[in-house]
Amino acid sequence: MTSAKTTTESRSVVSRNPTDPGDVVVRVDAAGTWATVEAAERGREAQRGWLAAGAGARSAALGHTAQLIEAAADELTELVVREVGKPIAEARAEIARTVAVLRFYAQLPYDATGAVHEPAGGAGLLLTRRRPYGVAGLITPWNFPFAIPVWKAAPALAAGNAVVLKPAPEATACALRLGELFRRALPGDVFTVVPGGPSEGNALVSAVDVVSFTGSTAVGGAVVRAATARGIPVQAEMGGLNAALVLPDADPARAAAHIAGAVAGYAGQKCTATSRVIAVGAALEPLREALSEALRAIPAMAPSSPDAVCGPLISRDARDRARDSYRDAQVLVGGRTPDLPGWYAEPTLVENLPPEHPLLHEEVFGPVAALLSAADLPEAIRMSNGVPHGLVTSVHTADLDTALRGLDALDTGMIRVNAPTTGVDFHLPFGGAKASGHGPREQGRGALDFYTSTRTYTLLPAGGGA
Ligand code: NAD
Repeated sequence: MTSAKTTTESRSVVSRNPTDPGDVVVRVDAAGTWATVEAAERGREAQRGWLAAGAGARSAALGHTAQLIEAAADELTELVVREVGKPIAEARAEIARTVAVLRFYAQLPYDATGAVHEPAGGAGLLLTRRRPYGVAGLITPWNFPFAIPVWKAAPALAAGNAVVLKPAPEATACALRLGELFRRALPGDVFTVVPGGPSEGNALVSAVDVVSFTGSTAVGGAVVRAATARGIPVQAEMGGLNAALVLPDADPARAAAHIAGAVAGYAGQKCTATSRVIAVGAALEPLREALSEALRAIPAMAPSSPDAVCGPLISRDARDRARDSYRDAQVLVGGRTPDLPGWYAEPTLVENLPPEHPLLHEEVFGPVAALLSAADLPEAIRMSNGVPHGLVTSVHTADLDTALRGLDALDTGMIRVNAPTTGVDFHLPFGGAKASGHGPREQGRGALDFYTSTRTYTLLPAGGGA
């Protein structure tokens, strides 16, 4: 059995089905550094025409891409299931969200791009106007192979940039298919995919005008440093170590249902997955029971099954990492390796971890969570905040006052009350604080600001004015 999901060592990218490593989803040559830089240069040429074509042309092209993706939804859903092992219901929802994201950004080329100000004295006009940087370099992970590239590309394109996408090797087939669909709707070289690994990622950062990265905290840090050294804008959305806080007044079954889905959904391979469950005071006993029951009701199963919630891990290494993470812990639920072809781990809940245990400090990216207890809300908030990451927290309570106190004291970029840590409202800003995020937020209307800079114009009467 091949242990690696992909390899780029021979300068070809080979992506395999995580439920059947013998099934090669795609094998292509890696772009290489020279072709990556060339893609950025061709993008820079094409971008001038793309901007000059006007807001109507950009809006129509994004709308057309949405239509093409919607028409291909069944095929794309199957590709997501096959290439990255996403349970089919979630894969279908990801394609639907991708279409909705494109339709949302298709409207934004018509938005105002600046403001008119009065001069301090005399006649004339002072104007501001946001202008695209040129070529946006996007570096993306494998776990949302359509939604993440599109939620970066759509605002970049709407603002008048060209885009070069360097996808994760594990999601190469999805990215190449997305590239084909974009190319049918956009002028040549406005959207290019460069398959490959770290060397293509590095080359991209060296050649573009603005960089948007999503992936692990370690790689994101290196990308931020390289882009900053070049003096170009960079945003990075990175890993999480997200907590769910459960108050004694919360309905245990309802809280458990939300948390179990956030622990085990897509085998925990979401930056927003819950990995720490903090029960406050008397919440511990009922929650332990309800959460154990809810997790037992989510068996790992083939992602093509309509009932699948927890599918495979992306690779054997990822599966081994998940298993190693709870090797010396007290396992309450799960902990076994399912007898299924591919790389599965059971949804697993552990408790009584010593404070220095790695599960409480490092992202596992698997269906694993630790149950912890806190004496009161302030202690739960200290525990939630006491990690380097700061992506999202959920708070489960029937008391709005308690929830509001939590909102003020929690230090994550997103806080969700009586909702799972997972889930994204794409029309609002999305992103993390501390080690989970760098730079301006993604998504929402504000995403266009990241891909543009402000120019200030002073217009005075030709005959002279104050
Ligand atoms: P990764 O960091 O291994 O890879 C991300 C991308 O960076 C890939 O395209 C990869 O090829 C590229 N890359 C690797 N080394 C590089 C280098 N030296 N220079 C430039 N590019 C390089 O992450 P992954 O395994 O694909 O994804 C999982 C991670 O992504 C998890 O940590 C998860 O939390 C995070 N994630 C975060 C968010 C978010 O919005 N915060 C969303 C999804 C995933």
